[in-house]
Amino acid sequence: MKTLPLLCLIAAVAAGCSSAPESSAVAAPAAPAAEAPAPKPGESRKVLSVHATDAEFLGVVKRPCMHRTALCPDRCDHGGSVAEFKILAYRSYEKTGEYGDPRATKFFVRVRDARGNPVADAALLRDIEALKAGDKVRLDWRHEYVTRGGSSFPERPVTTLKPESK
Ligand SMILES: [Zn+2]
Repeated sequence: MKTLPLLCLIAAVAAGCSSAPESSAVAAPAAPAAEAPAPKPGESRKVLSVHATDAEFLGVVKRPCMHRTALCPDRCDHGGSVAEFKILAYRSYEKTGEYGDPRATKFFVRVRDARGNPVADAALLRDIEALKAGDKVRLDWRHEYVTRGGSSFPERPVTTLKPESK
């Protein structure tokens, strides 16, 4: 007799359906491919230029505080370690704002402050510190204009850093 198992199966399917998550009346739209970074609350960002390059890692150099302000050298935020890259070629360049950086011949990433504390993103710092001088890398970044808390300043976040496959 097969009726009973079939009823059980139907019951199971019905139970399965009723426990399925309700389909939302308003489907969340798929996030657009984010070119620009999502601004944090209280902050606005404008992308001024977009750089995609082939570069050579030159090394990490220490830069001293130049003792030019009243806060120097103990309370300023000058000095620290800076990773230097020489731009070999552009894969693409886009100037998206009037004051966007032109094509660069060098690019610098500040990695640590004068006390040796990391200032770069942890993953980026790890990638940079794994490089050896002379390594060829793909290096992409954006020049952004950030307004936060009533002040405005440029940022140049690295969007891609990876060794060129040899
Ligand atoms: Zn200083």
